[in-house]
Amino acid sequence: MSESKLLDGKAVANRVKEQLKERVEALKTQGVTPSLATILVGDDPSSETYVRMKGNACERIGIVSKKIHLPEETTTETLLETIEGLNRDDAVHGILLQHPVPSQIDERLAFETIAIEKDVDGVTSEGYGQTALGFGTYPSCTPAAIMKIMEDYDINPEGKHAVVVGRSPILGKPVGALLLNENATVTTCHSRTVNLATHVSQADIVVAAVGKPEFIKGEWIKEGAIVLDAGYNKGNIGDVEYETAKDKASAITPVPGGVGPVTIAMLLKHTVDAAEKSVTN
Ligand code: NAP
Repeated sequence: MSESKLLDGKAVANRVKEQLKERVEALKTQGVTPSLATILVGDDPSSETYVRMKGNACERIGIVSKKIHLPEETTTETLLETIEGLNRDDAVHGILLQHPVPSQIDERLAFETIAIEKDVDGVTSEGYGQTALGFGTYPSCTPAAIMKIMEDYDINPEGKHAVVVGRSPILGKPVGALLLNENATVTTCHSRTVNLATHVSQADIVVAAVGKPEFIKGEWIKEGAIVLDAGYNKGNIGDVEYETAKDKASAITPVPGGVGPVTIAMLLKHTVDAAEKSVTN
């Protein structure tokens, strides 16, 4: 058993952000400052932290962060009006609606209201459909981050058996589609999957997207597998039992410092992409 290679998300994210700084400067010389609007509804502390981190990351590389904070009791109608206003605002290039939103809001309808050219987190069904068909402009940021980490570490999914645990619309499903587009053989597992451990033990690539701390056990991991842990649970704990998994895997993302920082970097990249497109259109 050899120690696995650490897939250093912070280093990947820093490289992405350095390249973006130059593109942001170039846009500014053309009179365009990339801008990301974030919408937070309610006062969930984790969501507030995520939105603040995204805003700070924008500002550090020269992207304008327009933060909209709506009260907990906001109606679907008010939220839709807010999104429509941002759709019409030429100074805004990307829109991120932090989820989950309070239960009285029709979250799906709110996501669908985001204009496709500003859907930098791939939450609309059109964006998801494009991603699945292989010509998506902005896949969801966490799936994009997982693919970016593999690319940076020369991990080619082609021909490999990828087992994705989780099938959420922003993570499990789109990452499965991206892996399939890169010619992996993809198995998607979820809460009704029977014999989960057996599926995971057959994986060359394991993507953990469950939302349960250390749910995927190290002993399930095949010797030499690549493990990408998107999980981010209370106490900075991933979905994979890291200490045991790292002895089996050939490469593994830590939590924190793995998929998380690259997710933010991909959000910034998509915003800069959208700003550049606004110049050429
Ligand atoms: P989610 O919407 O709650 O989806 C969780 C998925 O896990 C569902 O598909 C669910 O299956 C599946 N699942 C639940 N229990 C299971 C079980 N016992 N066996 C197998 N599958 C099970 O969560 P999410 O939004 O995709 O997020 C997943 C994790 O990623 C969380 O830890 C979240 O914090 C993290 N995350 C990280 C980032 C980042 O930037 N790093 C971004 C987004 C999310 P069903 O569909 O059958 O219910």
